[in-house]
Amino acid sequence: MPDGARLRLAVREPTPQPSGLGDLPPDADGRRIWAALGAAGRLAGVYREGHPSAGADPGALGRLMADLDARFGIGSTLSVCVQIATAVPLLTLGGQPAADALREALAGTAVVALAATDEGSGTDLAGLGTEVAVDDNGITVTGNKRWITGALYADHLLVLARHREGRHFTNFTWVLVPAHAPGVTVEAADTALFDGSGTGHIRLDRVRLPRDRIVGRVGRGMTSFASHIAVERLTGTLWAVALCARMLRRTKSRLEERRFGDGTLWQLESIQQRFAACLVSTHQLRALVDQLADRVARDHDTAAAALLKAAAATTVDRVLAECAQLQGAEGFSAAGAQWTRAQAALWGIGGGTKEVVLSTVAGASDSLLTELSP
Ligand SMILES: Cc1cc2nc3c(=O)[nH]c(=O)nc-3n(C[C@H](O)[C@H](O)[C@H](O)COP(=O)(O)OP(=O)(O)OC[C@H]3O[C@@H](n4cnc5c(N)ncnc54)[C@H](O)[C@@H]3O)c2cc1C
Repeated sequence: MPDGARLRLAVREPTPQPSGLGDLPPDADGRRIWAALGAAGRLAGVYREGHPSAGADPGALGRLMADLDARFGIGSTLSVCVQIATAVPLLTLGGQPAADALREALAGTAVVALAATDEGSGTDLAGLGTEVAVDDNGITVTGNKRWITGALYADHLLVLARHREGRHFTNFTWVLVPAHAPGVTVEAADTALFDGSGTGHIRLDRVRLPRDRIVGRVGRGMTSFASHIAVERLTGTLWAVALCARMLRRTKSRLEERRFGDGTLWQLESIQQRFAACLVSTHQLRALVDQLADRVARDHDTAAAALLKAAAATTVDRVLAECAQLQGAEGFSAAGAQWTRAQAALWGIGGGTKEVVLSTVAGASDSLLTELSP
């Protein structure tokens, strides 16, 4: 196509903007993004039949995460990821307040924070200390949750609490706590890495609520968490592919521009090989998620989700470290590749640490080995 025609085409057909995000600025926080997506119907659009009870549609989920990754910071995108994959689908478990919150959340008019991680126990979820005491007239919730995405601007806190002593998986129950109920206090997490995510620490000091604030059946908290966090691991992996691809594109552009001798850094074969190795890793992750996405979205297959999460953590770590190194000193500029690399360490921690998901993979090793048979 002659250059003039290409120019006219460019003027007539501007690059399509991801729908639902309007004119939001790049530093919009998770709450604003959530509201815009809800108003445009894009939140319901990631679920089959437009409702989370029918499960997520991996294609729509992947497109949404790529759109968000292209436009916004990691913190703001994280806030959408946790809600859309875990917090909102858990609201389908039952109870009128949960049904109301679900409707508002899908419309984008309410934000729901998922408060599972406890101050004292962290990774060891079965050791969590947050308690829900049930009596004839209501429930009382007491405990401390740490590092909760959206805590600073949420309307509802979906809290995982124990109703009985001991580590048995039937001892845990979800409670939907209004974020502004008496006894709830929230403080911002002391980090600049996840701006826009609203991440904070929540103190629940004898929060008194009606019994219908229990979400789902008493004793089903841990089981439902395990099955729904699988979709968050899938969503995080779809996002990881988008993030690695974006960082690789940016790094290649820079290498192609950066002079070296009579040419550019990109022309060095050793650099191309390092870059290619990252491209291979990213394509491997893409192939894995293509292969397993339906199993996770439809069946909540926890072993498949753990495979994805472990692979995503490893790939993001490797690709972002190499991209940052290949950008030299520029990588240390504000919001540069080294900053993104520090943020992306989240893939090895949030939603279950890499070690925890590797334990799940090990636990499913017999069936995963069988799958490798020709
Ligand atoms: C930005 C951000 C947002 C988050 N958002 C949420 C949220 O919305 N909701 C929520 O509930 N939680 C959230 N979290 C918490 C997150 O899920 C926890 O950080 C994570 O589960 C790990 O718990 P921990 O930080 O207490 O690690 P710890 O339990 O203190 O573990 C520290 C380290 O010990 C090692 N380790 C731990 N257990 C094992 C093991 N079994 N085997 C081998 N090694 C192990 C790992 O290297 C681990 O990183 C968020 C965290 C971050 C950083």
